[in-house]
Amino acid sequence: MVKVIEVKSLTKKYKNLTAVDNLELDVYKGDVFGFLGPNGAGKSTTIRMMLSLIKPTKGSIEIFGMPLKKKRYEILSRIGAIVEKPDFYLYLSAYKNLEILGKLSNTNVSRKRIMEILEMVGLEKRHTSKVKTFSHGMKQRLGLAQALLHDPELIILDEPTTGLDPQGIKEIRDLILYLSRDKGKTILLSSHILKEVQIIATRMIIINRGKTIVQGTVDELMNSEKMKVKVEVDDVQKAKSCIELTMWKNNLLSAGSNELEFKLDNHEIAILNKHFVESGIEVHSLVPTRSLEDYFLRITEESEL
Ligand code: ADP
Repeated sequence: MVKVIEVKSLTKKYKNLTAVDNLELDVYKGDVFGFLGPNGAGKSTTIRMMLSLIKPTKGSIEIFGMPLKKKRYEILSRIGAIVEKPDFYLYLSAYKNLEILGKLSNTNVSRKRIMEILEMVGLEKRHTSKVKTFSHGMKQRLGLAQALLHDPELIILDEPTTGLDPQGIKEIRDLILYLSRDKGKTILLSSHILKEVQIIATRMIIINRGKTIVQGTVDELMNSEKMKVKVEVDDVQKAKSCIELTMWKNNLLSAGSNELEFKLDNHEIAILNKHFVESGIEVHSLVPTRSLEDYFLRITEESEL
């Protein structure tokens, strides 16, 4: 596996606040890499360091196997990024905007290339429309078009779906999948919403207060863990005694007044349910919650207090 980004001991301090704290991160070629964390976790700060917009206090960043500090220009010319809400000339057309932005960044873009990119982001039919008539989602897609003009190998998107409605979110998600699967791009995508990233990412990292919480493939992180399952029953005492002499006893985490909590593998849920029903216990509900999801929800809620 070829490493596209390798971050070591990356740290950024602002006075007495450590925004990024000894971060280690690896992105491989072909990854859709989910960079997750609640608001204020340090995602943008990390991305800004990767794009050489701010200087790390400590640590190193290698991209395409080269140190960013020494090969800044070479590296950045192979990256396409959206870090802030893209700015456009509102009174000019989508096409004209891309033409001008291409010229400003010294990218030699033909009409064919601009139309090809507009088609990729689903704006070809609106290429003559003024950008001021665009929805937020369309502007976001035009931003992505701009980032793609010079055909970068690595695409870095900082919270690209912020403020979009479900349809807009889906369009960006489909576009990311297309760029990854059909165009072979490597993509780093930051978000504070686990669910949004989990469905398209191949690998991910979760950070909080600048520190890594977990990192790995999405399958490893989302599926390998046993789940906590809340089982609501008609009679907790009876349910407890019916598992007393079975292996299920080892899976029991806690018992409340009308529910039991178990730690189970996915396939065990139905078997436990059957056991209860066959023992004459009424099961009103079985609700699985993944502990990583629980955890993520908690830190996200804390950050929003
Ligand atoms: P995220 O992108 O995960 O929401 P950020 O990287 O924007 O988080 O912020 C991480 C922390 O660093 C926050 O506590 C934020 O307030 C702080 N921070 C970011 N930029 C600056 C800055 N220029 N000066 C001081 N503190 C900053």
